Amino acid sequence: MAEETIFSKIIRHEIPSDIVYQDEQVTAFRDISPRARVHVLIVPNKVIPTVNDLEPQDKVLAGHLFAVAKKIAAQEGIAETGYRLIVNCGADGGQEVPHLHMHLLGGERLKGFGFNA
Ligand code: AMP
Repeated sequence: MAEETIFSKIIRHEIPSDIVYQDEQVTAFRDISPRARVHVLIVPNKVIPTVNDLEPQDKVLAGHLFAVAKKIAAQEGIAETGYRLIVNCGADGGQEVPHLHMHLLGGERLKGFGFNA
């Protein structure tokens, strides 16, 4: 079993957080240090430390992260204006919390990565 992080406590409602969506597979909550007007983290309820730890049986779960991202984007009113989904992996990717998560960022014109600077 992979080691738990603070995200497991959020998923179990053991510490305060702003949960915007939860089902049997995933939980989504607002990032404590938002990098955009809308910044939500979408995390699997079970601990998968990084993308490197995804197993073939996690395919449906991995797809579900995208389905939930789409749902939350609509819920937050940013589906039409657009948004960015980011999954950091490991040290060079800038991953700080070793519990797989997808960042949903939007609500303003995003810069960065050199693609649209
Ligand atoms: P990453 O760098 O991809 O691992 O992203 C981790 C994210 O988790 C950062 O954007 C943090 O601001 C966020 N974070 C850390 N602790 C909490 C918390 N207790 N509640 C909400 N977001 C958190």
